[in-house]
Amino acid sequence: MSLTTIPTIQVEKVTTSRIQEVDFDNLVFGSVFTDHMFECDFVDGEWQKPTIKPYGPLEIYPSAKVFHYGQAVFEGMKAYKDDAGKVFMFRPVDNLKRINKSSHRMAIPEFPEALFFDAMHQLLEMDREWIKPGLGNSLYIRPFVIATQNGVSASPSNRYKFMIILSPVQAYYQGEVKVIIAENFSRAADGGVGYAKAAGNYGAQFYPTNLAKEKGFQQVIWTDANEHKYLEEAGTMNVFFRVNDTLLTAPTNDRILDGITRKSVIALAEKAGIDVEVRRVTVDEIVVAAKNGSLKEIFGAGTAAVISPVSAFSYKDETYGLQDQKDSFAKRFKKELTHIQHNLIADPFEWRYVVC
Ligand SMILES: *Cc1c(COP(=O)(O)O)cnc(C)c1O
Repeated sequence: MSLTTIPTIQVEKVTTSRIQEVDFDNLVFGSVFTDHMFECDFVDGEWQKPTIKPYGPLEIYPSAKVFHYGQAVFEGMKAYKDDAGKVFMFRPVDNLKRINKSSHRMAIPEFPEALFFDAMHQLLEMDREWIKPGLGNSLYIRPFVIATQNGVSASPSNRYKFMIILSPVQAYYQGEVKVIIAENFSRAADGGVGYAKAAGNYGAQFYPTNLAKEKGFQQVIWTDANEHKYLEEAGTMNVFFRVNDTLLTAPTNDRILDGITRKSVIALAEKAGIDVEVRRVTVDEIVVAAKNGSLKEIFGAGTAAVISPVSAFSYKDETYGLQDQKDSFAKRFKKELTHIQHNLIADPFEWRYVVC
C-alpha cells in the first residue's frame, strides 16, 4: 500500500483527560493507560475504518477466535521526550517489520507501514502530555493484533483487530535478578514460533517462571529444547554473557527473538572495540567460566528494562554469584542506549526517530 491510498483515521477525542488522576512518580509498569487508543479492523480482506478514540473496553463475542486458538501477536516499543519537549521513538520501523513477521507466522494479515506510522504520529501527538521528559521516563507502546471472527472452528480468522495502546512508565527496577538455567522446560522449539512475538509464548512461560520464583529466583534462562545444552534467552529478554572482556550472545534463529535492544548492544559493543562473539553459548562453558572467575557479567536486553543485570544463576542446584564490575558492560550499554533514546548524546547509527 502506498502513502496515498491509506484510509483517513477518524478521531474521537476524550471530553476530559484523565491525566490529573495519574501519579507519574509512582507508576506500576504497564498499569496506567493514556486517554486514547488506536483501533483498525481487518474485514473483507482489508484493513478498514482506522480510528483513534478514548481508551476503554472492547465489545467482542465470546466465540472470537483469539480466545480459543490464541491467534494474537504484539509489539513492545517506547516513546521518549527530551528536555526541549521533542518526542522520539527508537528504531520503530524494526518493530513494524517484526509485528508483520510475527503476524505472517500466525497466519494473520500484515499491517500497512504507512497506516502504522500515521496512527503512531497522531496518537503520540494527541497524548504527548503523558510522555514525561527525564531519563527513565518513557511511554510504553503496545501495538497488538487479535483474531475477532466469531466461531470456534479451528481455522484462521477472517477478521482481525489491530490496536495500539499507550502506558506511561518509569525506569524498570526489578531489584536483584537471580536466574535458573532451564534443565527441562523450553520456551521455543525448532520450527516453532519462538521468533514471533506471539501472545502464547508468554503464557507458556508463566508456569516454569513461577516454579523458579518459589525457589527464590526471578527468571529462567531458557536453553535449547533438544538438549538443554545451549543458552538462548533470559525470561522475555535476549541474553548476553561477558567472559573476561568478550561479549557472547546466541545467534537469532527460529527459537530466538530478534531483539532490537540485542542488535543495538552488539552494534555499540563493536563500535567500542569490544570483542563480540555471536555464536551458540553452552551451559557448560558458562559454568566453567563462573568457577574459574572469568565470567564477569550476565545481562538481559529488551525494550522494557533496557538492560537487566543478573546477580546470580543456578544450574543443577548449584548457585553461582556474580560480582559487581567497576567497568560494567551492562551499565555502560544501558547508559549509552538511554542517552541516545532521550536525545542526550549523538546518534551515530541514526536510531532516533523524531515523532513530533
Ligand atoms: C520482545 C522480546 C525480546 C526483546 O526484544 P526488543 O526488541 O529488544 O524489545 C527478547 N526476547 C523475547 C522472547 C521477546 O519477546
